[in-house]
Amino acid sequence: MSTAFFTDPACLTHVTPDGHPERVARLNAVLDALAPLELDRRDSQPAPEAELLRCHPQDYVDRIRQAIPASGQAQLDADTWLSPGSWDAALGGLGALLAALDTVLAGEARNAFAAIRPPGHHAETATPMGFCLFGNVAIAAKRALDHHGLERVAVLDFDVHHGNGTQDLLQSDPRALFVSSHQFPLWPGTGRAEETGPHGTILNLPLPPGTQGADFRHAWDSVVFPRLDDFRPELILVSAGFDAHVDDPLAQLALTEEDFVWITRRICETSDRHCAGRVVSVLEGGYNLDALAASALAHVRVLMEQGA
Ligand SMILES: [Zn+2]
Repeated sequence: MSTAFFTDPACLTHVTPDGHPERVARLNAVLDALAPLELDRRDSQPAPEAELLRCHPQDYVDRIRQAIPASGQAQLDADTWLSPGSWDAALGGLGALLAALDTVLAGEARNAFAAIRPPGHHAETATPMGFCLFGNVAIAAKRALDHHGLERVAVLDFDVHHGNGTQDLLQSDPRALFVSSHQFPLWPGTGRAEETGPHGTILNLPLPPGTQGADFRHAWDSVVFPRLDDFRPELILVSAGFDAHVDDPLAQLALTEEDFVWITRRICETSDRHCAGRVVSVLEGGYNLDALAASALAHVRVLMEQGA
């Protein structure tokens, strides 16, 4: 057993305007940081468009595809852009994540990491948002439930921004528990503790600006991990954004690599108790290249240590 690793070169063809924080260099920084590791590196195919329909209506999928420019860039909202490679990046990245899911659920690896972009946790049912086109991690959760037949899947999101899209896409499904810790107040403005969803399966942990590791850890230990023990997930999916790092330019939390080590270890221990260590993690945010690279490396090293 090992840690499987997936990416797709098409993820490097989604090009944003100069100065945009969600840029090609992010993924290159992560790939360079992980290059020395002895990961079980595997290939994947682009996701079929039908996978998008697990979470998005056909007319939304069509709208995004038709908005892809033949050259240059097209703007979907204040933050979210398309380039000629964006469609291949979106489906290639999703394909890498779904292959990670399938590999872990087939028992071929204990856990897996998918290094992809654009990220996904802000994309709502029919709205692109915050650099995101499609709800990657929510689609993976739906595939685990509807295709693989799991009954309970947990999605844990420690990106500094609220995972509003994942919440939107999963809150009507009581088989999915979604947990998001995030800076609050901060864009996108959602993620209050009172937002628990129609089935009580949404758990939001808003953290004030300046929150450091000790308070972050206390929040997860006092609220999230006991809740996960009650829920007894059969799989844990992780929206691994590293923009809660103290050096990140987009937010004001004060985590370090050691905090990402800590939470990754806790997630793996929880998975060991309930689902044979099955963890599938996917890259979301992280905008200081050095902090992103160091944090992703720390995260994946723990996955490898736990997957050994
Ligand atoms: Zn973020």
